[in-house]
Amino acid sequence: MAKGYQQHQERLQLLGLLGKPLARRAGRRCELCETSDTELRPFEIPPVSVEPDLDQMLLLCVTCNDQIRDPRKIQPERWRCLETAIWSTLPATQVVALWLLRRLVPLTPWANEVLEMIDLDPEIAKRVSQMI
Ligand SMILES: [Zn+2]
Repeated sequence: MAKGYQQHQERLQLLGLLGKPLARRAGRRCELCETSDTELRPFEIPPVSVEPDLDQMLLLCVTCNDQIRDPRKIQPERWRCLETAIWSTLPATQVVALWLLRRLVPLTPWANEVLEMIDLDPEIAKRVSQMI
């Protein structure tokens, strides 16, 4: 068996182990838009570490997941939820919210207004700058 394949399998197994604590933390709600009663999927904040890390993961609804993975699909008005998410106590939510807000700046005027209101945590800003 190829080493890369085996590493990939081990990683998937570790990811599986994080499924339960992640679901517990999210409480059946999308950790960005807070939609409940919908299918939720884990999202790993890039750059993806060798060992999966709960602090680098969010449990997101399908719509959030899709639009983050493919920013061409971003619908600006859908993301007004970021006005709340950016104040989250969960750093991973803040990281992805900030990343999205920056993407939204050229698309809509309110994104910049939100960015001007927040006190940017240097640690969060650093993590956002590392996202690809
Ligand atoms: Zn969502």
